[in-house]
Amino acid sequence: MKIDVAALKNAPGKLFAYSFTIAPGYLQTEGDTTLLTPLAVDLEAMYCEGKVVAGGSLRAKVKMTCSRCLRQFSSDFYEEFEDEIPLEQETEIDLARVIAELFLTALPLKPLCKEGCRGLCPACGTDLNEKQCDCPAEDMDPRLAVLKKFYAQS
Ligand SMILES: [Zn+2]
Ligand SMILES: [Zn+2]
Repeated sequence: MKIDVAALKNAPGKLFAYSFTIAPGYLQTEGDTTLLTPLAVDLEAMYCEGKVVAGGSLRAKVKMTCSRCLRQFSSDFYEEFEDEIPLEQETEIDLARVIAELFLTALPLKPLCKEGCRGLCPACGTDLNEKQCDCPAEDMDPRLAVLKKFYAQS
């Protein structure tokens, strides 16, 4: 999806609306986060004093891994954004690239399956959302706890 800069420049202050989707393959999500649907983009843009001002919303279904209990879950991603793209000599703006960056920075660094997820017990790996264990409170990386649980079972 590209914006023709000339059209915007010819009508400063006028809003142009764009709706498009970006295929999941184009978005280089990190770690366990993947898109279950294309990213739907609705935006309006206008030219103003040497830059393009854009604003709108991003929508997609994403699959993530909870940073506390390590459970995979899907959630509805929705984010509103505003961005200013300074113009130099370019005649068009590659919106997909701009949006991809916005999307990737808007993804949560530490996804949670639900508000207040209690996570895994750092000592025995019990999912504290399901039951309470008897371990004394202690700080450990939940990923280590999973390993510990794994070895305890084998
Ligand atoms: Zn969780
Ligand atoms: Zn425990």
